[in-house]
Amino acid sequence: MLEQQTYIKKCIKELAEITERNKPYTRLVFSEEFYSARRWLAREFNKLDLSIRTDHAGNLIGTLRSEYDNKKKVMVGSHLDTVQAGGRYDGVAGIVSSLAIAKHFRENNIKLPFHLEICDYLGEELNEWNISCLGTRGLSGLLDREILSRQDANQRILKDEINKIGGNTDKLNKKSDGFTDVLACFELHIEQGRVLEAAEKKIGIVKSIPSISRHKIRIEGRASHSGTTPMTERKDALVAASHIITFIDVEATKLSKKANRHFVATIGKIDNYPNAATIISGKVDLILDLRVVDANYRSEFLKKLSAEVNSVSLSRNVGVEVIDVAFSPYVELNSKVNKFIERSTKDLGYSYIYMDSGAGHDTAHLARSAPASMIFIPCKDGLSHCPEEYASTDNILKGTEVIARSILALAGEIV
Ligand SMILES: [Zn+2]
Repeated sequence: MLEQQTYIKKCIKELAEITERNKPYTRLVFSEEFYSARRWLAREFNKLDLSIRTDHAGNLIGTLRSEYDNKKKVMVGSHLDTVQAGGRYDGVAGIVSSLAIAKHFRENNIKLPFHLEICDYLGEELNEWNISCLGTRGLSGLLDREILSRQDANQRILKDEINKIGGNTDKLNKKSDGFTDVLACFELHIEQGRVLEAAEKKIGIVKSIPSISRHKIRIEGRASHSGTTPMTERKDALVAASHIITFIDVEATKLSKKANRHFVATIGKIDNYPNAATIISGKVDLILDLRVVDANYRSEFLKKLSAEVNSVSLSRNVGVEVIDVAFSPYVELNSKVNKFIERSTKDLGYSYIYMDSGAGHDTAHLARSAPASMIFIPCKDGLSHCPEEYASTDNILKGTEVIARSILALAGEIV
């Protein structure tokens, strides 16, 4: 598939240019830039003579139709949206790779016994409505009324945005027909970590996507004058928060060693009230982001956190409450699809390892309803969600070849 190298480069360059001005690389879902990237993709679909449609969940799909009269299909794809000031490869690598596969099959007149759908899954990144993976959740019947009626800071209702882009949220109540007759789903994605680079491997075959949960830790102290309140009479919410943050870091480090599989806990967001130099902190909200493969370690960690929270509450004289705000369960990816991937990788002579994903992905939602899996390719220094994000065209091409070959193997199997 070497002939696709120039095409891959060209597509990545063109998509990188579709960004909010002075803020590389930004295409938030439903923004002007996002619409513009979708028009770009539709043009590419047209050039490849694919039939184009938007499904009920707002996913944009180009189909390489099979000449065989059946409904069976294979899905490949990823996402066009980015985070604020993100990179050029997150999501894009998978979209471009899927286009290159369709182009390769077209140019070499390869006929498949099933339809091949190239998908831009709508809004994979966490957005203003506090929900990620819109398109694949929609396909799996996981966008309920509460989520669809959420508003962002500009009073935009999520449902309206999905319908404006071509979806039909009235038809999303149950699993949409998007999953009938799906033989397999493949996604290529940059690893967004350093595992492949450190192991000097080209392909990561993904075994699982961790459970991701977010918990708000609310600490209620008493705001008072920083000059007149003696040290012994304070109810300082921020000091209590600092004890909890340190505990989380120390305990998660211990458990991650013990678990020997993916286990990470992060406090990346603090809201401190009233947040003034002369006032002792009266209230703090922390958001704990917890990503775990093994559910036993998750409960062990939350149990220990709860004990710690009680002890900090007593020793620092504050109220502490832990509130669950989001949860998506641990998902194992399809082992049969992974066998196809492994065989293709071996045939091509590329080095590989099986690994757990650290991040959430569209494939986690697909895998609940269809045989789905994904591969990772190395990204430089493990950097992602930042402008420095980089994956070489050579590595994207290698991953693309692995998926193309897996699709052909699948075709051989069912003909
Ligand atoms: Zn992504």
